[in-house]
Amino acid sequence: MIDFSLTKDDLEIIENYKNFTQEHIIPNAAKYDVSTEFPWPIVKEAYKAGLMNGPIPKKFGGNGYNIFQSCLSSEELGAGCVGIGISIDANTLALTPLLLAANADQQKRFFGEINEQQAVAAYCLTEPNAGSDVAGIKSTAIKKGDKYILNGHKRFITNAEVAKFHTVFALTDPSRGARSLSAFVVPVDLPGVEIKPHLQKMGQRASVQNEIIYTDVEVPAENLLGSEGYGFPIAMKTFDRTRTGVAALSVGVARAAFETSRDWAKNRIQFGKPIAANQAIGFMLADMATEIELARLITWKAAWYYEQGLKTPGTLSAMAKMYASDAAMRVTTDAVQVMGGDGYSTEFGVEKMMRDAKLCQIYEGTNQVQRVVISKGILK
Ligand SMILES: Cc1cc2nc3c(=O)[nH]c(=O)nc-3n(C[C@H](O)[C@H](O)[C@H](O)COP(=O)(O)OP(=O)(O)OC[C@H]3O[C@@H](n4cnc5c(N)ncnc54)[C@H](O)[C@@H]3O)c2cc1C
Repeated sequence: MIDFSLTKDDLEIIENYKNFTQEHIIPNAAKYDVSTEFPWPIVKEAYKAGLMNGPIPKKFGGNGYNIFQSCLSSEELGAGCVGIGISIDANTLALTPLLLAANADQQKRFFGEINEQQAVAAYCLTEPNAGSDVAGIKSTAIKKGDKYILNGHKRFITNAEVAKFHTVFALTDPSRGARSLSAFVVPVDLPGVEIKPHLQKMGQRASVQNEIIYTDVEVPAENLLGSEGYGFPIAMKTFDRTRTGVAALSVGVARAAFETSRDWAKNRIQFGKPIAANQAIGFMLADMATEIELARLITWKAAWYYEQGLKTPGTLSAMAKMYASDAAMRVTTDAVQVMGGDGYSTEFGVEKMMRDAKLCQIYEGTNQVQRVVISKGILK
């Protein structure tokens, strides 16, 4: 039998994040959308409420959520504001390589620093000539004595300007290309780390992204994660876990847009009756509600597969990320349509949700790249 009932712990997670979102995120979402500043006060409140670093084990100061429980928290954050949600969840992206590959000393030290200082970290993979094509990375980290000398250029890095450290992917032997890709923890206060002003962008404007130039940065050799050449699998395994989070954020923003437009349609009177009484609007809402259910189902299934250690969790998490973010784009676009001119105005927030949803189709691998991952998985 399949059982979709949630445990007491699961329900408590939903309740905690829902309350947090109502109190701290929704009232401030429009403000950060305009200011484009990193929402430090909200991140600090999330630390205070014990809602940061959900999937990090409890012994390292996190909440020890499994992947499924992380999806429950991300859906609530996404329903409040995807930009603020990703400011919180990007910590998970940056810390997952440590969860996967750091030794016990590194985990104690780096997770400890992040939690004790209520800090954030950044995941630095993308480069100007290596977006979808991760194997095109050119940054180098060449061993010299007990240091690696890091040189390179990263871009679109979420939380870079506010991070305590960067999880950086670079080649330790450029002659071997991506086979020498390796992952490092790079404290931002090391000389040679230059972080450019953050990008201005269409949506998720509460989340910051920067270009970073690393020039002769002396990274202690003990900051290498795993061993040299293990960077590619670390990066891919990280995405296998975190793409379900992007899927859940997408379900959240779709849900919020659906609920706003549904309530609007029940109350907006035209031609002497609520617009929801027109089949054209009712059917649009029916399609939106169905899409959200389907998106949540595949997200939960992908997370569950991961937790059970079943085959092809990467294929399913790519399916979830692709389907849920495409669904979020369709649902938020229709929500604007259902609300007409009021949907297009900034007053009710659905135009922001539509802008925010777009990015979920692009980051952590575009949805075209998800199709590449899925086709490889199903043709294996
Ligand atoms: C706001 C934001 C936050 C981000 N945060 C981070 C972060 O924290 N850390 C990080 O490392 N990166 C981050 N990224 C980078 C993000 O993951 C990349 O933007 C994304 O992977 C796409 O790379 P690209 O932008 O270079 O596009 P390109 O790779 O140049 O792709 C352009 C277009 O070509 C298509 N395309 C490319 N290759 C193929 C193919 N083989 N088959 C079919 N279509 C293809 C793509 O789907 C896309 O439509 C972020 C990006 C943004 C915009």
